[in-house]
Formats: sequence, structure tokens, C-alpha cells
Amino acid sequence: MAIDKAQVLAALRTVTSPRGVSLTDAKVLSEITAADGKVFFSINVDANEARAWEEVRAKAEAAVRTIPGVTTAMVALTAERKPGAAAPAQPSHSHGVKPVAQHRPHGAPADSPMGKQASIPGISSIIAVASGKGGVGKSTTALNLALALRDLGLRVGLLDADIYGPSVPRLTGVREKPALNDAKKMVPIVRFGMPLMSIGFLVEEETAMVWRGPMVMSAIRQMLWDVAWGELDVLVVDMPPGTGDAQLTLAQQVPLRGVVIVSTPQDLALIDARRGIAMFDKVNVPTLGIIENMSYFQCPECGTRSDIFGHGGARHEAERLKVPFLGEIPLHMSIRTSSDAGTPVVNSEPDGVHAAIYRSIGAEIKRQLVGAAAAV
Ligand code: ADP
Repeated sequence: MAIDKAQVLAALRTVTSPRGVSLTDAKVLSEITAADGKVFFSINVDANEARAWEEVRAKAEAAVRTIPGVTTAMVALTAERKPGAAAPAQPSHSHGVKPVAQHRPHGAPADSPMGKQASIPGISSIIAVASGKGGVGKSTTALNLALALRDLGLRVGLLDADIYGPSVPRLTGVREKPALNDAKKMVPIVRFGMPLMSIGFLVEEETAMVWRGPMVMSAIRQMLWDVAWGELDVLVVDMPPGTGDAQLTLAQQVPLRGVVIVSTPQDLALIDARRGIAMFDKVNVPTLGIIENMSYFQCPECGTRSDIFGHGGARHEAERLKVPFLGEIPLHMSIRTSSDAGTPVVNSEPDGVHAAIYRSIGAEIKRQLVGAAAAV
């Protein structure tokens, strides 16, 4: 039975905002998507009022579910970030990769935050790609690394958990909204032979979002557990940048095998990277290694290399911190143009020098995952 937006609006009219006006008059509703019995939309509110709105969100979802023919209603609570404002706070046939379920951080008591972790059926390993600060090329690296692991024969999925600024829609050119299957799980969008999920598929990418702690967890949990990922050897998670509460909570709740830190060679970025490693260490997530992105400049015309950012800083930092150094990725026009065009370089130029660099980093990560499995 077809559902139209008027029916959805009629149902939402019965829900009252914290200020006592009807939801439809509160000027908070995003565009409503209603198709095949599935209804998606978001409620955009002031970040300071987000907590009061959580109940309204739940009521809105319940009201939409009462419409005959609606099988699923998904309502997200989002808040626009004011400029300058800080973000608030096992399958046995896998390719030798250790199942997440076996990875309980050493010594984590059952009542510790790590005790809340649960494995995701079908996913053997989850690795995070993180950075101490934004703009260092974390998302570009996460996507190309996922593609490199795919090329190395692993079944890979990519989750864009950068809920403050999801970039996977732009980097992959995917603009579709995920459908829901009979089990009411979101069906990830398959691109480049990999299942992808991003909060950007559900809300507009341009909308910078502020999420309150409980909202962060519910969004991330939905994208992990309410998605039909299928059988994966590795799920690569593109984490939000920084080392705030959100990242910490995420690292505590998501069963991570390890984290890959992306940094540029500059001192400031490295200080942030160090903080990132310390944070993951605190929650017993091992660092799989550091990648130096924009390591050196390679002239697209003549191929000449110049170390404009003082290349090598991340390697020294890795040595100092006694974590593996995974490799250097040059600052190169083709990496930028290909990722910004939705055609990541590992896929668009698989025989090129950059794809080879990502693959060699991927090979080291695969070695660590498989090596750990072999040792069990
Ligand atoms: P982050 O996730 O850290 O915010 P992005 O992956 O979105 O960063 O990258 C920021 C910008 O830098 C994008 O325009 C991207 O294309 C570009 N970029 C990332 N890595 C490289 C690289 N190695 N060479 C050239 N441009 C890069």
C-alpha cells in the first residue's frame, strides 16, 4: 500500500514538541522519504535542546508506525552545529581473520564499558581508521585502504561513523538511501564490490551535525547492528576525528580489533595523533599502526618529490611510541581529484603507484589480522 507524505504529516501533527506546539508546526522536520512501507526523516533541533527532543523522536516514530501500510519508520534526531561551536560531548570460513567475538580487550572486566561490546554476526574483524584532527585525509585513506584490502582478497565493508561530517557519500558518489529488508535491517549500498553505510545516506551531507552522547551511540549502534552487512572478513570504520567523548564512547562500545591512525607529518597533527593513540590505548584498543598521509609532495607534471611538510615525522613518532609505521602516502593531485569525484584512486587507477602504496599498507594490516588469528 502506497504511503504519501500527507499521511505521515497527519500522523506527526498529533505529536507535540517540548514547547507544546505540534511537530508539523515546529519547523524541525527534514524532507520525508516514504516508499514501499518505509518512512525516513530527521528532526533537526538546537543542540542544547536535544535531550528533551529524544522523547519526541520516539513518539514521532511510534506515530508513523500506526499508519496502515508502514512497515518501518526511522526518525533521526540531528542538530546543526553553530559555526565555531565544539562538538559535544565469526564465521569459520573467514579468510583466517580472527573473529571479533574472540577479541575482548585484555583484563576488561565484565562491568567495564568494554563489557558492553557485542560481536556483529557475520563480521570477523572491525578496524577503525582515526585521526587526532580533521582534514588530514582520514576518510580518503579509510576508503582507499578498504579497497586495497578488497584487492588483497578480503571481504570488506566500510562504515562511515564520522557522524559530524560524513564524507563517504562524496568519496564514493553514492547518494541513495538504503532500503530495508524483511528483517527490518538497512541494506547497505554496494559500491566497488563493497557494502557501504554512512549517516550521510540518511541525512543531508551538508548538514553539519551535533549529536548528544546518547544520540551518538544510538546512531552508531544502528549503523553497526541494524545493517544487513552479510559475511565480512573486515569492516573498516571511518571514525570521527579527534579524541572527544564521542570517540571514546565509540571505541568503548564498538568491538574494535585495532585502530589505524592517519596523520600528516606536521608537529601539530602528530601531537593530536599521539593523543589519539593514548585514547585508544586507554580503552585497550591496539594501534595497528600509523600512516603518514600527505607525506611529501609529488609534482603531477615532473614527478619531482618535495618534503613540504617536513616528511618523516610520523615514522619517528611511531618509533617513539613503539607502534608499527604502516607507510607514506604522497600529497598528489590524482588522490584528491579522484576521491572528490567519487572514484577513489585504488579503484580508478588500480595499476598506478598510489594504489600500490595503499595495497602495501593493506598487506601489513592483513598480516596483523591474520597473524593474530593464527596465534589463537
Ligand atoms: P578527513 O577525513 O581527515 O577530514 P578527507 O579524507 O576528507 O579528510 O580529505 C580532506 C581533503 O584532502 C580532501 O579534499 C581529499 O581529497 C584531500 N586528500 C586526502 N588525502 C590526500 C592526498 N594524499 N593527496 C592529495 N589530497 C588528499
